Amino acid sequence: MFQDRNMTCIECGAAFVYTADDQEYHQKKCYGTEPKRCPECREARRRQARKSTRAAQLAAAAAAAPPPPPVPARVERPRAFSSEGARPGGGGGGGGGGGWGPPRGRGPGDRPLFETTCGACGGKAQVPFEPKQDRPVYCRDCFVKMKGPRGPRF
Ligand SMILES: [Zn+2]
Ligand SMILES: [Zn+2]
Repeated sequence: MFQDRNMTCIECGAAFVYTADDQEYHQKKCYGTEPKRCPECREARRRQARKSTRAAQLAAAAAAAPPPPPVPARVERPRAFSSEGARPGGGGGGGGGGGWGPPRGRGPGDRPLFETTCGACGGKAQVPFEPKQDRPVYCRDCFVKMKGPRGPRF
């Protein structure tokens, strides 16, 4: 069914034989077109095509390189809000200056004093407790002297 055909290469003008096998091969591959070049030129073109396709692949790979990471868009805050929030505070928390001071622990002023007579020196004594007759009450000075250097302890 297939016959060898004498062909002329359109590339180099060389005569070549389009063999029956080649024709059958082309028929099977459904190439449809007859070879217009000699096997050498065909091989050369094939190499060239392979080279070019490889170059194309490289170019495609380069083009398909991952793009730089997208820069996140900076979120602008509404100016109205920020200026409202930055309003200088009025008079909050000034640190209570006058008025009540901190409660004193053992000040003589925060408990009622009873005036009596010192049992040691006979002078006036002010004691923070109600003096009782069965106990001697001393003035502060005498109390400190009797109790020692620790200080007054009422
Ligand atoms: Zn040729
Ligand atoms: Zn005294």
